Amino acid sequence: MKSQDYITLESEYGAHNYHPLPVVLSKGKGPYVWDVEGKKYFDFLSAYSAVNQGHCHPKIVKALTDQAKQLCLTSRAFYNDCLGPYEEYVTRFFGYDKVLPMNSGAEAVETALKLARRWGYEKKNIPENEALVVCCEGNFHGRTITVISLSTDPDSYGGFGPYTPGFVKIPYNDVPALEKVLQEHGPRIAGFLVEPIQGEAGVFVPDDGYVKKCFDLCKEHNVLFMADEVQTGIARTGKRICCDHEGVHPDVLILGKAISGGVLPVSAVLANDDIMLTIKPGEHGSTFGGFPLACKVAHAALKVVEDEKLAEKAAYLGEIVRHFLREIPSDRIQSVRGKGLLNAIVITPKNGVQAWDVCLAMAKNGVLAKPTHQDIIRLAPPLVIKESQLMHALEVIRKTILSFDE
Ligand SMILES: *Cc1c(COP(=O)(O)O)cnc(C)c1O
Repeated sequence: MKSQDYITLESEYGAHNYHPLPVVLSKGKGPYVWDVEGKKYFDFLSAYSAVNQGHCHPKIVKALTDQAKQLCLTSRAFYNDCLGPYEEYVTRFFGYDKVLPMNSGAEAVETALKLARRWGYEKKNIPENEALVVCCEGNFHGRTITVISLSTDPDSYGGFGPYTPGFVKIPYNDVPALEKVLQEHGPRIAGFLVEPIQGEAGVFVPDDGYVKKCFDLCKEHNVLFMADEVQTGIARTGKRICCDHEGVHPDVLILGKAISGGVLPVSAVLANDDIMLTIKPGEHGSTFGGFPLACKVAHAALKVVEDEKLAEKAAYLGEIVRHFLREIPSDRIQSVRGKGLLNAIVITPKNGVQAWDVCLAMAKNGVLAKPTHQDIIRLAPPLVIKESQLMHALEVIRKTILSFDE
């Protein structure tokens, strides 16, 4: 079968809830993927930053296959010999008392929202059913009904109402807006949920100091500072988590994607005892949450981040990426922004050419990236990419963008 045959099958038998680039992949290794015709590409999406450790990292795959032969799923009705050691490792890694393991990022966000409400009632004495959580315009936190109730993107929430109440939306990167809402509703507010960089919104990097100022305001008003680091966490932005750039230790830390190196859906919510222990046995969970395979895989994936110093690498290579892209002499590039190896080019739409067209041309030339919105191309290669490989890929991107000016 050829690429077109697989595309036809998906279109015929799969729901049409995605619009992929017309590339059919069948193999991956490190920063590379191959399509069914054998063409090799640099992966500059990394599955939305789930594959920070590179495709099919041998240590992570070994952890998966070893454990798969031993024991896959027990459910949490019984103890297993993988969960405890992983929980000890992951809590020490990120500096929290406790972890609550889930599977998808959206589930981890849901978990954090439940935690905030529960903590609000039990510890902050918010009157029953009155708790509020503040979130930011332009956010992306996932796809469940409650999570899209936070969204301000009509593509995400339109036609899926009615929505979950109890959320207040304020502009992103706007400290006075947070201050105002805290002053007006502080006693009812349980938490503030924020991405330290808005990934899906187009790698929107807030002003320096934004995260710290928001954190301090939350402390002043006894409100939980909850960081959604599903995309920015696990070394992507050049630190272990993005909040580290401003020395902020979130009250509730939400992780997903690269916590498993892209091998299995694994997510996690981390918090200290006074927050986490407000949820009691039987009050929250998931059949697969913390299953033995996930524990071994996530354990191995985090170890790779440490052993291969991926955060330091992302910081170093990220500087090179932004410098290189800013030097490209094309008025098609409106701006370049990002942190670590989470970067984006904002394209000036011209003569009907949009980010999608640039991505199609880049794919032809051997670099895969996906537009977010009409004019933004996110560039997020696996963090294991070597400097020489990165330079090669950047050269392809440069040539592709310049080709539109000819
Ligand atoms: C991808 C993402 C999610 C949702 O993760 P899923 O595993 O797709 O449910 C949540 N928050 C952020 C910031 C994300 O980038």
